[in-house]
Amino acid sequence: MKQLRTRFAPSPTGYLHIGGLRTALYSYLYVRKNNGKFILRIEDTDQGRYVEGAVEIIYRTLRETGIVYDEGPDVGGDYGPYIQSERKNEYLKYAKQLVESGHAYYCFCSEERLASLPDVNGARRYDKHCLHLSKDEVERRIASGEKYVIRQNMPTTGSTTYHDAVYGDITIENSELEDQILIKSDGMPTYNFANVIDDHLMHINCVMRGVEYLSSTPKYNLLYDAFGWERPMYIHMPPIMKDAQHKLSKRNGDASYEDLIKKGFLKDAIINYIALLGWSPKDDSEKMSMDEMQQKFDISGISKSPSIFDPLKLAWLNSLYIKEMSAEDFADYATPWMENGFLAKFDKTLVCKLIQSRIETFGEMEDKLRFLVEFDKFDKDLYTNVKQKADATLAKEILPAIRAKLSAVTEWTNQNLFDTLVNLSAELNCKKGAVLWIARIALTGLAVTPGGASEIAEIIGKDETLRRIDESIAMLN
Ligand code: GLU
Repeated sequence: MKQLRTRFAPSPTGYLHIGGLRTALYSYLYVRKNNGKFILRIEDTDQGRYVEGAVEIIYRTLRETGIVYDEGPDVGGDYGPYIQSERKNEYLKYAKQLVESGHAYYCFCSEERLASLPDVNGARRYDKHCLHLSKDEVERRIASGEKYVIRQNMPTTGSTTYHDAVYGDITIENSELEDQILIKSDGMPTYNFANVIDDHLMHINCVMRGVEYLSSTPKYNLLYDAFGWERPMYIHMPPIMKDAQHKLSKRNGDASYEDLIKKGFLKDAIINYIALLGWSPKDDSEKMSMDEMQQKFDISGISKSPSIFDPLKLAWLNSLYIKEMSAEDFADYATPWMENGFLAKFDKTLVCKLIQSRIETFGEMEDKLRFLVEFDKFDKDLYTNVKQKADATLAKEILPAIRAKLSAVTEWTNQNLFDTLVNLSAELNCKKGAVLWIARIALTGLAVTPGGASEIAEIIGKDETLRRIDESIAMLN
């Protein structure tokens, strides 16, 4: 059996959208499982869509996420060029070969004529007007400098069938296929033509891509047949939706890989989540490392039905990855999130310890910790905690004692502060939970905070702790 060769063929649009990254990931996983080769091809022939720096984003994202390609523009290989525009001069030659064999023809129709063709459900199908021009006339018109395109000559009867590994047998009546343009009037190939030539020249025998190409594939297969080339195997992937009606797309303002990184998701969690958008392993596991995914990946686990991108599930998965990071890794990763804002003034290790198990994304850090720098008047009902038998009356009674004990602490550590508060509860003969609750409310004015009174006091420091308690005492009077 021939070695499996598949490719990821993004257009450099300035970002790697989630669907594209999923195609790359599935291709990579499939290839690794089957000892094949994974190839990166940059499809940049649509110059109108070209964005400066976009190719670097593709390289960087794949490198960062561990989706390693065996051949590509920046790593080389035996079947280049790996950038479509560098193969520009080849396509015309192949199109002319099809003209010779009767599978394509020159078309000189003007924009006006095309616009005057009957409108069938919003599309104006080309009517093969130029198919029957004589060879002499074609040569004369080309020589006189007339503009032309080259069109594929579709059969008008019969049907075309192919097998897709996910969607099964796909059959299309040939009469439904339009004589699509292969070479545009500027001499450049259309995507519809270039992808077939490229795949053939790069010895691609397995094409993995989004389901939006499922219905164009019969046209590509007719091209393979016309050249006498072997058709590749096809694996089309289900759409990724934002909700039941709308496709997820960067053009609709939906997040790309880069956006998710900027929001504080970890690359491993993003890749793990993306893997689940349209595939599930036989054992239904959800949290998986790249190695585990490689072991479990199987085409039969790809679903035909659309999958919905669920930001809450991604956040949940991200929180699992955050929780299992070592304290050092967490602190390293959190550094860029801390160094430019108000968190920079606190002890990094203490802040990280407080927050690591309490965030789903790094982007939440500042919001969850804003109370470290903001302290406002608050409602005294917050002191009420039925279970701990705490309320504002008790707070008024014991806050002066809490203040006195804390002001006597010399070594300002969480453990010392905690012990001080617990000892005080015994002295006061009230529940330990009541003292800790009242101290935390007095320090933050918030019903819920990450961490308890002693952890928070340690981070904000002695002066600020005592200042806040004084203010809270004043609020109760
Ligand atoms: N350049 C196409 C895209 O970005 C690739 C489609 C294909 O894989 O053939 O959608």
